[in-house]
Amino acid sequence: MTAHREAILLTPGPLTTSLRTKLAMLKDWGSWDSDFIAITARVRQSLLSIVHGHDSHVVVPLQGSGTFSVEAAVATVVPPGGHVLVLDNGAYCKRAAKLTHLMGRRTTVVPFAEDAAISPEVLQSHLLADTSITHVVMIHCETGAGVLNPLQAVADVCQAHGKGLIVDAMSSFAALEIDARKVHFDALIAASGKCLEGVPGMGFVFIRKAILPQCEGNNSSLAMDLHDQYIYMEKTGQWRFTPPTHVLVALNEAIAQFEEEGGQTARLKRYQSNCRTLVGGMAELGFKPFLDPAIQAPIIVTFHAPADPRYQFKTFYDIAKKNGFILYPGKLTQVETFRVGCIGAIGPVEMAQAVHAVALTLKEVGIASASPAL
Ligand SMILES: *Cc1c(COP(=O)(O)O)cnc(C)c1O
Repeated sequence: MTAHREAILLTPGPLTTSLRTKLAMLKDWGSWDSDFIAITARVRQSLLSIVHGHDSHVVVPLQGSGTFSVEAAVATVVPPGGHVLVLDNGAYCKRAAKLTHLMGRRTTVVPFAEDAAISPEVLQSHLLADTSITHVVMIHCETGAGVLNPLQAVADVCQAHGKGLIVDAMSSFAALEIDARKVHFDALIAASGKCLEGVPGMGFVFIRKAILPQCEGNNSSLAMDLHDQYIYMEKTGQWRFTPPTHVLVALNEAIAQFEEEGGQTARLKRYQSNCRTLVGGMAELGFKPFLDPAIQAPIIVTFHAPADPRYQFKTFYDIAKKNGFILYPGKLTQVETFRVGCIGAIGPVEMAQAVHAVALTLKEVGIASASPAL
């Protein structure tokens, strides 16, 4: 840890937030209070604006980490007799498949390589071969390796075949373009502590208005029923059960900064700039990204571990932390990697500093080149 500031998180949530967002959490709120109810309403309106979804969708916030909202979305949107196809190119897809199975829904997993995007053509052939499939689950940005999956093309295939689409857009929402007027989806899930740069603690699910009535009674959980949460919130303006008050007011403040920055296009630009600075700087040290640039989302970059036998993630992590930056372990099954997030309240200056911290870290460990064993 450097003496003058806290370490910067290069992780895909929790991430580094601005001082303004942190300061928003210094007040306590009553859940029934009209001021707090107004903030809930404002946040919901802003979220709908980000996806241009006012006409087509509602948004339902839910307490908990992002996965709580994915689970709630599947259990609320898919009827008990539904059949869900999960397009799997990484760890978060496997998590979605597991929770779908645990919710008692019939689940079919279509595997893809973790260094490739999912294929709309393969999806199409599966939908033609098995007409019992009712819903498709996809991850927009697979945070496991950092792959950008083709949302529009998958949505088009699902719409053409009359299948419901559920999108985990946790690590892409507010940074990559998602336009509900162009992309047809039944449910899309994101959370407070990712590209909106709020703190973790709540998720939210966009649900297509046309399917809302059919969602009633699908979910066998009380706390995770988004239909019930929606009905109650519309009626009272309040959350069912204790809301994450500080998380919500921080998100409200984070959204204000998002809007001031210039919205999704500005945020994407900053993250792209972060990503370029990172990949360029790391290449000079010998590091090689795991993915083809064509499918790399500017959200999180997976790097091959250096071939040098002195490299060990734990030591590398500890020294990088002492140098002011928190790295993220790899999440791949076959190859030794580590990850660096490009998201959070940081810009290319901090990314250049991060690369410098990594250079110092290599020097301290005694690694001359970070080239992988390829
Ligand atoms: C962060 C993330 C989640 C949610 O993870 P939690 O640990 O539950 O917050 C889900 N899907 C993707 C793709 C993510 O990046």
